[in-house]
Amino acid sequence: MADKVCPDCGQDDTLVVTHEEEKWLHGFGDDQVELRAVVPVYSCKDEECGHRYTNHEAFKIQRDVVRAHYDQLGFSDRTLYPWP
Ligand SMILES: [Zn+2]
Repeated sequence: MADKVCPDCGQDDTLVVTHEEEKWLHGFGDDQVELRAVVPVYSCKDEECGHRYTNHEAFKIQRDVVRAHYDQLGFSDRTLYPWP
């Protein structure tokens, strides 16, 4: 499923995947927490391009982390996070 064409420079076989920890703030005010997840990051190894991006795989992993966070808080109201 790995797409090997860089979406920025369009070259073939320049993408490498690394797994990196992403941190982000979730929620507001007193409920704000820092969540983190290790996600696949695609990087173009062409030096002039150097494009980096994450895709739906990272989104899914981060979504699962948010969901686990809500579960931990005891939220079961799915309207708060209406994801499938
Ligand atoms: Zn590139």
